Formats: sequence, structure tokens, C-alpha cells
Amino acid sequence: MKIGIVGLGLIGGSLALDLRPLGHQILGVSRRTETCDQAIEQGFVDAASSELSLLADAELVFLCPPLSAMRSTVEHLIPYLKPETILTDVGSVKASIVQAIAPLWPNFVGGHPMAGTAESGLSAAQRHLFAGCPYVLTPLETTPTPALEAMASLVGQLQAKLYYADPEHHDRAVAWISHLPVMVSAALISASAHEPDSAILNLAHDLASSGFRDTSRVGGGNPELGVMMAEYNREAILDTLQTYRQHLDALADLIQQENWQALATQLQLTNAKRNQFVKN
Ligand code: NAP
Repeated sequence: MKIGIVGLGLIGGSLALDLRPLGHQILGVSRRTETCDQAIEQGFVDAASSELSLLADAELVFLCPPLSAMRSTVEHLIPYLKPETILTDVGSVKASIVQAIAPLWPNFVGGHPMAGTAESGLSAAQRHLFAGCPYVLTPLETTPTPALEAMASLVGQLQAKLYYADPEHHDRAVAWISHLPVMVSAALISASAHEPDSAILNLAHDLASSGFRDTSRVGGGNPELGVMMAEYNREAILDTLQTYRQHLDALADLIQQENWQALATQLQLTNAKRNQFVKN
């Protein structure tokens, strides 16, 4: 298949690394010519350009730029495309992206490969990044079946686990397991850094170990990604933050009341419920 990839960064580059060895012809478009040159030199793609016209013959195009560039990329790309070309995006938020793109290009399938690292850019791309990870497709009732079948086949070729979801359901679920954790973890870091006694703060810096490393990891990641999650999934994040705040207050109340029995019951519940989210 002739596959276009717009945005040769972590996700776009990783798609190229997996799909080209499977026999697909990969045409890459990225903003900077240095990135296009690197993609050709290092064998990510068969051809690359900073011009979207390179994708005129593509049968399917993965849209992999930042969320903020998704809509304008499609608007600039459409004049070059054949009507049968399938468009799909990899954005980590779906409702706003699907609402923006589906009316512009009916042969579109929203998608979210749920894999990544803390790094960004083409140099961060990895082979087999998506293997074993969820890949969510968010079709609408109007999404053409052949486009959906083509995407399901590619997800299988990436060895990812295919899920289907309504775009808004996807955003609400992802708010709980991805976006809320970023905000909670960021609040943990900034609260800890506000310890007023410098001797205590320095001691905490020295003693921080695996527990703090695990709980602070996502809050200490790429600031741009965090802002984009909040901007593009605002309602769902606000809902989850509000519920989270109530649960945090409830825990603080139990401690304030020295109600150790109720706290133990609560922590037994969370101990059991964690297994439903985190398998193994
Ligand atoms: P990234 O590593 O920063 O890659 C995006 C690349 O797109 C940049 O390296 C940039 O390359 C290029 N670019 C920027 N603006 C562009 C434009 N207007 N037109 C064409 N190319 C442009 O980011 P990423 O992590 O791969 O994220 C890309 C998309 O994947 C986002 O929509 C994100 O929501 C989604 N996603 C990310 C993750 C994750 O964990 N990172 C996971 C799942 C989905 P040059 O400037 O070098 O040309």
C-alpha cells in the first residue's frame, strides 16, 4: 500500500519504521526539511518532503502532527488528494479532532495508538512501539466500511490491540487513565516543592526513591503535551479533577477523624480496584 505520514516525529516515525519493512511504500511529509532529509537518509521512508503535494498518490495518510496542527494540515492536504484516499489521525484526543476532520473528508477514520515515550521528534522513533498496546479507532456511523477495514488491517500489522470507541467515550476514558494522572502527578510535584522548611525540602530531595519516581513520572513529562491534553479534552479533565478532589478530601477527612478502620476499608477497596485498570 502507498502510505503517507504527515509529521515525522515519535509517532509518525515509529509508524514508518514498522510499516516500511512490511512492504508498504512510505511517503513522509514533515515541517522541517532537516527532518525529511534525516528520514530519507536513515531509511524511515521511500520519499520525504516538506510539501504535502508528495501525498497526491497516497492510498492512506496517517496524520501525526501535534493536535494543534491537525485541522490546518487536513485543509492544506485536501486539494492534493484523490477522493478514495483514506485519512486517519493519531491524536490522543478524539472528539474535537473527529468533529473537525470528518466534515472535511468523509473517508476519515479517527484513531489513537496508545503508546509513547517521554521523548519526541524523529530521533525518538522506535520499532515495535505499538506492539501489544491498545490502538483505538473511533468511527462514526457515516465512516465508510472499506476505510475502517483498511485501518483494522494496519492495526493488526502493527501488532497492536484493536479497540473501537465512540470519540467522546474515548476522551472520557482517556481522561481517567492518562490525562488526570498527568495533572495529579504535576500537583504532587509542585506541592512537594512547596515545603517551606529548606532543610526538610533538601532531605526530601535526597530521600526520594522509587515511590516518588513512579508517582511523579507523568507529571514531570513534556509540558506541551500536558497543555494540549487540557486544551483539547477540557471538559472531561475538569470532570475527573472534580471527582478526584472529592475523593482526596474524603481521605483527608478520614485521617483528620483518625478513622483508621474506614481508611483501611477504603485502601482495601483501592487495592482490589487497581487490578481492574492495571493487569499483572
Ligand atoms: P512529536 O514527536 O513532536 O512529532 C510531531 C512532529 O510533527 C514534529 O517532530 C514535527 O517535525 C512535525 N510537525 C510539527 N508541526 C507540523 C506541521 N504543521 N506539519 C507537518 N509536520 C509537523 O510528537 P508525537 O509525540 O509524535 O505526537 C504526534 C501526535 O501523536 C499528536 O497528535 C499526539 O496527540 C499523538 N500521540 C502522541 C503520543 C505520545 O505519547 N507522544 C501517543 C499517542 C498519540 P519537524 O518539525 O521536525 O518537521
